[in-house]
Amino acid sequence: MHPQPRRSTTDKTARLTVLLLLFIYAAVIQPALPASAADCQLAAAGQLAGNDEIFGWIKEICALGNRRPGTPEDRKTAEYVLDHFKAFGLDARLEPVPMPVWNATKWGLTVNGADVPCFYINHSYWTKEFEGFTAGPGGIAAEMVYVGEGRADDFKGVDVRGKIVLVDVRFGVLRQSETTSVAYFGYDPRGTAPADWSQPNPYSPDNFPSNFQRAAKRGAVGFVGILADYYDRNTFYNELYVEEPCKWPIPGLWLSRSDGARLKASLKKDGNQATLVLDGTVTPGTAYNVIGMLSGKSDDIVMVHSHHDAPWSSAVEDASGVAEVLALAKYFGGVPKEQREKTLMFVSLDTHFSMYQGHLDLIKKIRDRKMNVIVDIVLEHIGKEVVEKDGQLVETGFVEPRGIFVTENPFLIALVTQAVERHNLERTVVLPTYTILGVPTDAGDFNRRGFTVISLISPPLYIYDSIDTPDKVAFDQLNPVAQAFADIIVSIDRAPARQTSRRAWIPKYRFQYYAVVAKYIADMIRN
Ligand SMILES: [Zn+2]
Repeated sequence: MHPQPRRSTTDKTARLTVLLLLFIYAAVIQPALPASAADCQLAAAGQLAGNDEIFGWIKEICALGNRRPGTPEDRKTAEYVLDHFKAFGLDARLEPVPMPVWNATKWGLTVNGADVPCFYINHSYWTKEFEGFTAGPGGIAAEMVYVGEGRADDFKGVDVRGKIVLVDVRFGVLRQSETTSVAYFGYDPRGTAPADWSQPNPYSPDNFPSNFQRAAKRGAVGFVGILADYYDRNTFYNELYVEEPCKWPIPGLWLSRSDGARLKASLKKDGNQATLVLDGTVTPGTAYNVIGMLSGKSDDIVMVHSHHDAPWSSAVEDASGVAEVLALAKYFGGVPKEQREKTLMFVSLDTHFSMYQGHLDLIKKIRDRKMNVIVDIVLEHIGKEVVEKDGQLVETGFVEPRGIFVTENPFLIALVTQAVERHNLERTVVLPTYTILGVPTDAGDFNRRGFTVISLISPPLYIYDSIDTPDKVAFDQLNPVAQAFADIIVSIDRAPARQTSRRAWIPKYRFQYYAVVAKYIADMIRN
């Protein structure tokens, strides 16, 4: 009569033990390292372009001028990359993509009769896709009203209709502790990017563009943003953040931190009169993607890309990424076809600083042509860390901390981890693609549309500024990065395509991420 309950208890214990073992297994087991990766160390020193050669390409690209998408300088850069791809033996072509070109021609600000140094907010005052904009011959004269940081609460009870708003634009903060807490892997052997390392995040200012949109929605006729957390400069050529035109319909201007502070101190309690000028054109233009093919034994494609368009004659953003692509194209162009299992596709994209039309066009073509791109490898921003000290910008002597976003696949994570260690890419974290951060890189569109990605990036504060000159490039990292990625490409080339494209759900990393999210939510509730 009684064996049944006893069996049940034993069963339950056994089942619990199995579950516990499974949980422990899932929580502690690392993805198996690919046995082949260490054998694939094909990219030995000396075979790939050295630091000097890669840096030479960066300087030549920078010498072509401001590479804003759709401009003649941008086209010249596409042709420069095309010529190099051809010289390296690639089957290369330009792919034109139509786009509107937003261009500011005149801007200015006076408040209570005094001129205030300023720079335009890129892509503001855009009301019709192909129509220019003007503040009129005398500019827009209106009352200026300061609304703090321009958050929802700041606008409460403030009538900004018909006025020019002045706001403090705050940047988010990048914290090393936050990236390492969700990372697959971190590599910082000298401990130069410790947990308390942090810097302002130039990519996504914390309260911009939400405060801009709030001002426009409430009827403001102009937006003036003080770059409160930036270097003390106003030449911040912001990104558009969206992939559609006409999101910011009123004119916008940037002020430096100190000019903004002076202006705020000079404002009267009310009745401040401002005149804002922003004139410009929006014209039909053409962006050019550069595609270079190296066929291999199979039609499976390993794609390697960066983007050549930029805010200025920018060195780190992203002449450095394009130069890395050139180094890899030159290297693999010299490998006989019979030694390449897969087809390699080297790409330099346009329109990162527009609406990613070039990226979307390429994705559509890949789909239409049924090209089997098994992985998209992206290289961006080989830059030095530069900080502001006593009002001066100074190099810290280190490379800017960097991240490599990798689609959740044990083979790829292991490959990238090994390459980072082998080539001593210090200050690197290998990051998942499934966090709330997504993949904030040139690979973003590809990741969102289901491509497997490996995307290297770093976030120096100067990448949107004209100070992004060749001296900001992390010269001694140029060849090691190329070597690391050559190793990754070789390993992928030799592995079965299904091993590369297989999606996994790796409990160890997932639990790590969910624990961070749970703690974040708990902290939010507590505060
Ligand atoms: Zn970039």
